[in-house]
Amino acid sequence: MANKLKKKKKLCKRKTYSIHQFRHDYPDDDACLEKLFQIKYGKLKACPRCGVAGAKFKRIATRPCYQCVECEYQLHPMAGTVFEKTTTPLVCWFYAIYLFSVTRNGVAAKELERQLRVTYKTAWRMADQIRKLMVSPTTEILSGIVMADETFIGGLEKNKHKNKRIPKQPGVISNQGKTVVFGMIDEKGKMFTQVLNGEANAETLLPLIKQNVDKAAMFVTDGHKAYFGLSKQFKAHHVVNHEIGEYVNEQGYSTNKMENHWSGLKRMLKGTHIHVDKKHLHKYVAENLFRFTNRDRADKMFELILKNAA
Ligand SMILES: [Zn+2]
Repeated sequence: MANKLKKKKKLCKRKTYSIHQFRHDYPDDDACLEKLFQIKYGKLKACPRCGVAGAKFKRIATRPCYQCVECEYQLHPMAGTVFEKTTTPLVCWFYAIYLFSVTRNGVAAKELERQLRVTYKTAWRMADQIRKLMVSPTTEILSGIVMADETFIGGLEKNKHKNKRIPKQPGVISNQGKTVVFGMIDEKGKMFTQVLNGEANAETLLPLIKQNVDKAAMFVTDGHKAYFGLSKQFKAHHVVNHEIGEYVNEQGYSTNKMENHWSGLKRMLKGTHIHVDKKHLHKYVAENLFRFTNRDRADKMFELILKNAA
């Protein structure tokens, strides 16, 4: 009981960036432009042209730019960003970014179309651009206990009648028409995910693993052949045999954390987006990773995406 209460209290304390706060911070395009100006040029110590230290820049009323009061040099906060050539108001972009920052299962282009009253084409393009901003900095090297797992995206195998499904072959990772996504998470919660071009086998996986995991790491995987070489290359390799219904092995190891992540990815793909083309899949996988990586900074997610934009 005490535990339950504690948990409830913790949940309530979780910081989120509320829609009220967002509306207060960004009531119009000017407020959004000012924010971009602050992110891009807020730390400028002197005017880039006249060199006057601490030179003030004032907003030009008729155009989205700022001008040095000393030499009239102009700074354009939207230049070189996704907002540069857009005809969609900045405040709509900011709101779309806000939606991406607070959702758990992604934002459908259809949703943006409805909420922003833009065309589907515009909505899709905006979503695609925002997704590209949700990139995590290069993954740090994973270490300690590392769980590795793969998942299949697409294909209609599960929708087929049981008799017509292609039977799973133990120890073989095959992607009959599906795309394989590979992922690893270490004991500290650092994660790596990647969409594979072909099948998941030792030739495709081992180089990825070696590149991103510390040599002293210990692996936990399922029984797929592709992982067989790991015990030679790393400190140890524990196998959880899913084929016999084992999800936690005798030593207490499991790949559950990675599988939970895949469930989230699939909820996002099937629940929100219904269908994602293979060629765009990597962006959705990266978006999901970004959300996972920043899960403890939910209130800062909006800010992080915006910084990537500027
Ligand atoms: Zn100047």
